[in-house]
Amino acid sequence: MVSFQTVKGTHDILPEEVGLWRCVEEKVRQMMEAYNYLEIRTPIFEHTELFSRSIGQDTDIVGKEMYTFSDKGNRSLTLSPEGTAPVVRAYIQNNLGAQSPQVKLFYIAPMFRQENPQQGRFRQFHQYGIEAIGSLDPAQDVEVITLAMGIYSELGLQKLSLRMNSVGCRICRPIYRDVLRNFLKSRISALCKDCVQRHEENPLRILDCKEPACREQTEDIPFMIDHLCPECSRHFAKVQELLSQLDVAYVLDGRLVRGLDYYTKTAFEVLSGELGAQDALGGGGRYDDLIEMLGGSPTPAVGFAAGIERLLMVLSREKRPRVSPRSLDLFVVVLGDDAKKVALKVLRQLRHKLVRCDTDFVGRSLKAQLRAANRLGARYALIIGEEELHRGKAILRDMDKSQQEEIDLNESVQEVCDRLARRSP
Ligand code: AMP
Repeated sequence: MVSFQTVKGTHDILPEEVGLWRCVEEKVRQMMEAYNYLEIRTPIFEHTELFSRSIGQDTDIVGKEMYTFSDKGNRSLTLSPEGTAPVVRAYIQNNLGAQSPQVKLFYIAPMFRQENPQQGRFRQFHQYGIEAIGSLDPAQDVEVITLAMGIYSELGLQKLSLRMNSVGCRICRPIYRDVLRNFLKSRISALCKDCVQRHEENPLRILDCKEPACREQTEDIPFMIDHLCPECSRHFAKVQELLSQLDVAYVLDGRLVRGLDYYTKTAFEVLSGELGAQDALGGGGRYDDLIEMLGGSPTPAVGFAAGIERLLMVLSREKRPRVSPRSLDLFVVVLGDDAKKVALKVLRQLRHKLVRCDTDFVGRSLKAQLRAANRLGARYALIIGEEELHRGKAILRDMDKSQQEEIDLNESVQEVCDRLARRSP
């Protein structure tokens, strides 16, 4: 017998877990809307070039992790590994900037990366994220950061650390790249194979390398924040000033370059002390060149993305919002084929009034059906038996009080609705 399992690095979210997911997603949506971000939904796959151009050829995501395939028209397509490039594509394609100089969007979506699965690292995972498009103002960076932090604090997460850096712009970053290249020139032989290549192509990525040897060789490297041009320096100082004014604590981290190449100026990451090796809950930053790079007119932007699976891992059992599965309003106990026919009618009428009800399709006994009603938390059971049916009657049982009475079958829908209305919520 063939038995199928989920693909490595993917997982089912079972009904008992979905309540918590929905609760977290609801909180995320409420906060996004409080900050006036509007939801956008983009397709799950895009042209591969959208990602290779924006995220950067030398990044792990583009170099190693994308789920890329050719369709029958021989187009190279890729399952979205992140949300920013698709949102920017949609912004340009739909000319969203024409309606307002400031466009604020959010998404909640699955992402796909072929990484080595481990605790907190999956091949299909879920992110929520925002993109604030149109503003150069450091206050916009701060709004994005306070929203990112606000969601965590609303959900009761503690022991978080906000790491901040500036990765410069197209003026100062190339100069810093050369500084880094020169600094590491004499140490190349001690770097890992990937970093030897990065040294030539994109030395900033070396700061991100997790190999102990590379970490050691880069312990005393010069940092980007000491090589910012006056504009980037001013911007970063303002961001820090505004964060302090709002009492948002942060730590400067010169190594923080993020795994995607499109960032400019502000880069930030939120880490949790409770996550172990994969300690990043989310991160983001400015990407002032990306929209132009993808064919739009030059437009500054800033955003962040956060992983939902990791957030749920940190939401310790005690802090998890209590999500009790919603119980049934009514269970219709059916005994015999004629009763089932009537039951289907009654159920349809009640369900179309949004009464939560169910019945038995597996031929259980009266006792077993009442047990099922109990297990499902039904407030009432409507028992339709052969004998009552002939008399146009049914038995309505209050499951909590264990009291029952005979009612007219014709009036059962109204009777159930009235009783539920009296008992609500
Ligand atoms: P990134 O898009 O790489 O900046 O990631 C933003 C956030 O998404 C991370 O901080 C994680 O919380 C989450 N994330 C990224 N990659 C994965 C993954 N492979 N599995 C689970 N969560 C991930």
